[in-house]
Amino acid sequence: MTGMHLGRDRVTLIAGGVALAVYATLFASSYDQRILTLSGVYVIMVLGYQFIFGHSGALSLAQGAFFGVGAYVTGIVGSQFGTGFLITFPLSIALATLLAAIVAAPVLRLASHYFALATLALNQLLLVIAVNWESVTGGANGIPGVPPVILFDWQVGRGLPLLVFVWALAAAAMLIAHWQLRPSRVSSFTVMRETPLAAPAFGIEPGLLRFRAFLFSAAFGGAAGALFVHTNRVVSPETLGFGIMVTCLTMTVVGGRFRIAGAVIGALLLTHLPEWFRGLDEYYLVAVGFLLLAMVVFAPNGLAPLFLRAGEPSRLSKTIAGDIEPPAKSTAGLVIEGLSKRYGGVRALDGASLQVEPGEIVGLIGPNGAGKTTLANLVTGIERGDAGHVERASANLSVLSATAIARSGIARTFQTSQLPDELTVRQVVSTAAVNLGSTAPADKVVNGALALCKLSDDADTHCGTLPHGVRRRVEIARAIAGDPGVLVLDEPAAGLADEEQRQVADICRALAHAGTAILLIDHNLEFLRTSVTRLACMDAGRIIMEGPFDTVLADPAVRAAYFGMADQ
Ligand code: ATP
Repeated sequence: MTGMHLGRDRVTLIAGGVALAVYATLFASSYDQRILTLSGVYVIMVLGYQFIFGHSGALSLAQGAFFGVGAYVTGIVGSQFGTGFLITFPLSIALATLLAAIVAAPVLRLASHYFALATLALNQLLLVIAVNWESVTGGANGIPGVPPVILFDWQVGRGLPLLVFVWALAAAAMLIAHWQLRPSRVSSFTVMRETPLAAPAFGIEPGLLRFRAFLFSAAFGGAAGALFVHTNRVVSPETLGFGIMVTCLTMTVVGGRFRIAGAVIGALLLTHLPEWFRGLDEYYLVAVGFLLLAMVVFAPNGLAPLFLRAGEPSRLSKTIAGDIEPPAKSTAGLVIEGLSKRYGGVRALDGASLQVEPGEIVGLIGPNGAGKTTLANLVTGIERGDAGHVERASANLSVLSATAIARSGIARTFQTSQLPDELTVRQVVSTAAVNLGSTAPADKVVNGALALCKLSDDADTHCGTLPHGVRRRVEIARAIAGDPGVLVLDEPAAGLADEEQRQVADICRALAHAGTAILLIDHNLEFLRTSVTRLACMDAGRIIMEGPFDTVLADPAVRAAYFGMADQ
């Protein structure tokens, strides 16, 4: 199915490209060619914006600022010093990227709406500088006489030559975006966007991904700004105005936030709409407004998916291996020593200590609020403890980030489902395998995890459509995709039917048999009885008893804490 779509998509793209080339060379007037050239410039800007706004999911309002920096660097350096394109173009890209790198540290940490405001402020600050620093920027009038593009001795003339040149650079930008947005990275972005809490536990570094996306948005924005002033031959505060940002945002929303073709469709459409509707005179803006509204309502993911249907192709082999036995491994167990954690006045953990040996399944029970999930969060680095430490193979894990802990071989599932609805089961598992850097070949690990969790038939189903029981197994398959030595499962059997519970128990036993140390948090005693090799009970942030299943359950302190029975 996907292959057929890919084939059809390729035909659509080639047909679109040929139609555009024929129109540009044979039918377009010089005015039309100028509009098409501007479309190519905007394609580059939107491609960059897709990184941060689309894939990262962060509403940046700085794309106009990066565009303006590229425009002013080329305008000022080109006109004041007569410097040629081969220097001003890379310089425009470099300075826009440098600006992004400088503001990234304070700005990228901000929550969504503060991030939008901070990036808008950057845009406004640069605009004020451009208008007021007249001696350098030309003030409100800007700088006329920006030189044309000259490559070695060849001047790229207005009209068709400049059009072809700009679109050649747009094509190069598309190739760079295509190279950067390989399927595993697109899936990582999706996991980060949809389930930010869980992302580090599967080897994804959200900060690094967002930083890289911000730099790419700036580089592409700077390149577009430089080409814009070569097209207009003048640089003015208009290039830093909010209008550019709104144009970019509209093109991205209309074309689509995620697909490279969306940048082309959005840029072409939004530059040509004013021309097509010109005859409407004063009603033009109303008509454009209605059209945009209709597109946002009826095509919320933009127009690109209407023309191109292919999903993200998986680069991993589709064969499900017959061998469902997880590979035997030499593992080290988990040592939890005196972990404490307070949330304001609540003492969630109060010196909890526990060990889980390789091949062991330690069940962890305790009343609601006992601190079980907090323990899982501290062990996997999702939260930092106040005291105590977690060790594996004599290495102190408490100082590591959640991503580093995950990559060191400690995997987990979450109490509430953390699956991105729009990815398929295979994509979810393979994203974890790739990011966790499993030592075995990724496709072998993915196929093994899918087979072990009995997901072979659901491999290409989108997670959003899966029933709860299957989702639980997908989460386990993803957790073992990095071939972990330690697995922390937070209530994996909650809400499962008996048969589904048996499947999860089977998976746990198979993993333990292969040497994995498993900490199994659950409330379901029947499920635990069939799964665990040892039981521990937690109350008020401490492990109050551990040992064989029946011994722990018979303990008066456990019965008092867990079942609310008075010690008789
Ligand atoms: P359950 O069985 O209901 O999942 P639990 O044993 O997993 O409970 P935790 O979720 O670890 O318990 O919570 C332990 C205590 O810490 C509770 O009192 C809880 O309200 C508190 N707590 C946990 N996380 C936070 C947080 N982020 N902020 C404030 N308090 C928290």
